[in-house]
Amino acid sequence: MYRTDYHTHTLRCGHAGGMARDYVEAALGLGLDEIAVTDHIPLYFLPGDDPLPEFAMAASELPQYVAEVRDLKRQYRGRIDVLIGIEADYVERHEEELRSILEAYEWDVVLGSVHWVAGDWIDSPGAERRHQTEGSEFLWGEYFRLLSKACASGLFDVMTHFDLAKKFGNRCPAACELAEDRAVSSAAESGVAIEVSSAGLRKKVGEIYPGPALLAKLVKRGVDVVFSSDAHAPAEVGWGEDQIRSAAQKAGARRHLSFRSRRSLSHGL
Ligand SMILES: [Zn+2]
Ligand SMILES: [Zn+2]
Repeated sequence: MYRTDYHTHTLRCGHAGGMARDYVEAALGLGLDEIAVTDHIPLYFLPGDDPLPEFAMAASELPQYVAEVRDLKRQYRGRIDVLIGIEADYVERHEEELRSILEAYEWDVVLGSVHWVAGDWIDSPGAERRHQTEGSEFLWGEYFRLLSKACASGLFDVMTHFDLAKKFGNRCPAACELAEDRAVSSAAESGVAIEVSSAGLRKKVGEIYPGPALLAKLVKRGVDVVFSSDAHAPAEVGWGEDQIRSAAQKAGARRHLSFRSRRSLSHGL
């Protein structure tokens, strides 16, 4: 069994604990074959070097981050594969800025996330209220519209938490099913992979991302999966590994992917 964790953060983002090395050590302790360090990309779509220190590292910190992970990759070679990754926000009309940041480094894997919806975060602590003030139908519709564009952008290897708007328990309303289907089609047609993430199990919603029905839809359309914890502490590395693996199997997946230099390799489930 080939064991991976494709989504982990570090204290650089301002809302996680532990250095990249602590996450690698945790993964090594669990016996994982590889770990991708994928901290949040600097908030390139907001003004200033460090617009929100509790959400992401400063723009000026990115070169050090990449160098740090590259060093770990070298130091741990032969014991565990450490991948140089990033979790990159998709923000409409800022695609070219993101493209130029991504092109400046040699990534193993680039995760694509829609956190910024209609001018604000969809998943920050205050975002639960938005479902009352702006309405779930609007937020979910916008979320999936942006996710469809993100899938088609060609910027990303893996789309994260495909139904993130459910984080606080606000489920996708029936009126947004068409928008959801469009996002599924966009993922299938673009050839991007998705993560099966245990993070939702630790949130109010108490369910993996994506939920079982949506995961089955994606797998049926031929979308490949990677496994992830979205760890924000070293102790969360590999968290929920058995649940996400069995959820992928139940959804009909026969394989999961790993990445090197942004090229995928597949492993049996
Ligand atoms: Zn985070
Ligand atoms: Zn993350």
